[in-house]
Amino acid sequence: MANQNRIPIPTLTRFANLYRVLQEAEAEGVEHLNSAQLEALTSISASQIRKDLSMLGEMGRPGVGYKVNLLKKRIGSILRVDRGHPYALVGAGQLGRAIANYPGFEDYGFKLKAIFDSDREKVGQIVQGIPIESNEHMPASLLQKSIRIAVLTVPRNAAQDATDQLVAGGVRWILNFAPTHLKVPDNCIVRDVFLTPEFAILGHFTED
Ligand code: NAD
Repeated sequence: MANQNRIPIPTLTRFANLYRVLQEAEAEGVEHLNSAQLEALTSISASQIRKDLSMLGEMGRPGVGYKVNLLKKRIGSILRVDRGHPYALVGAGQLGRAIANYPGFEDYGFKLKAIFDSDREKVGQIVQGIPIESNEHMPASLLQKSIRIAVLTVPRNAAQDATDQLVAGGVRWILNFAPTHLKVPDNCIVRDVFLTPEFAILGHFTED
């Protein structure tokens, strides 16, 4: 748990954004970026970027900027995206399949290793080369595959039960899309991803 509490979430969010643009820049062959260029690519202010990166001991060279590949490596190691993270998906419906079929999470080390669903018609179907398993076997299968991370895309009324099963299977880190607050033991971390409030916030700014 220690590493998870060390850096505040807002800073981690900025690092994750910086990592994404550094990854793109590296792929395009860009060798250096200064804080003003990073600001333009991320909308994080240049002064905030300099502050965050100086915390890491990363000093950009005046007139040159930060070395893209080194900075990406450093931030990647903090985010621990430089290692493999096997994860399970629970709920192979519309959203679950969209997530399973999106290749971008592997760039961050997240590799889908198991899929569970309660619908007998879906059990045995193959998604991204992975056979959907029945949720009845979830804890044993998770333990057997040593999976500690899960993405939850089940209906709201099934979410807590599925979470309890995940925890029983040794899962400690959950990305939750079901629109409900999950109760988990203290040693687990749930990150909620709710798009609807984002629409509501956008709605507030619209004009007639
Ligand atoms: P869906 O009905 O297409 O898929 C849900 C799947 O979960 C089905 O395949 C169903 O069989 C399975 N399921 C039900 N109970 C289960 C259980 N106990 N264990 C394993 N699998 C189980 O629904 P969807 O459109 O993919 O939405 C999935 C969830 O994501 C819903 O809770 C929805 O509200 C939520 N959602 C959230 C956001 C967001 O922004 N967070 C956006 C869209 C949908």
